[in-house]
Amino acid sequence: MALDVAWAQTWVRRTAEVIAENRDELIELDRQIGDGDHGENMKRGFTAVVAKLDGLEAPPEQVGDVLKLVATTLMSTVGGAAGPLYGTAYLRAAKVAGLAELDGPAVVAVLEAALEGIVARGKATTGEKTMVDAWTPAVNAAQEASGNGSSPAAVLDVAAAAAEAGATATIPMLATKGRASYLGERSIGHQDPGATSTALILRAAADTAAA
Ligand code: ADP
Ligand code: MG
Repeated sequence: MALDVAWAQTWVRRTAEVIAENRDELIELDRQIGDGDHGENMKRGFTAVVAKLDGLEAPPEQVGDVLKLVATTLMSTVGGAAGPLYGTAYLRAAKVAGLAELDGPAVVAVLEAALEGIVARGKATTGEKTMVDAWTPAVNAAQEASGNGSSPAAVLDVAAAAAEAGATATIPMLATKGRASYLGERSIGHQDPGATSTALILRAAADTAAA
């Protein structure tokens, strides 16, 4: 489907479903290197997002309107490290998505803005075992695909695949940011929960675009 406002809303609803489906896995990952709240935090946040979408009196006109609703809702409901990080990501993404429909370069701009927001907020770089390790390869893959003239849906598909590979690649990393860094060497050998939720979010975007 075209990456229009209907797509954005379906993406967000699909995200809420996959986060709920993977709640227990995200909790287990966060239990291994954190405090075990990531799955419940994210489920609570996206459940609240869907309730807000359901309660809208006027339909959103631009993709950015949907992303802004996600941002403000996540900031007020998710808590922990992930709430402000994802909140900032969606807020920055919303600012470049004041459009009725995203083309390939606009998808890239949205992903770039999200990553910039996360880095501005959390000050992590790649290799520190955070969600940045999923977002960065996703942005790089999207830039390359868009540069080759890929369709917006194809840009999202390669971004999701790169985020999934990026999440897996956090397993051998030593955590040097966030709660997992308190574990030092014991953080090695576990997949980062935030990188995992990022991969789920981007896969939901790609699946919705491909439908
Ligand atoms: P908390 O650690 O406060 O319990 P969550 O469990 O909801 O928060 O989220 C943890 C995730 O947040 C981590 O798996 C990691 O991906 C991400 N994270 C933590 N600190 C940072 C940071 N400084 N920059 C980017 N991502 C971070
Ligand atoms: Mg946690």
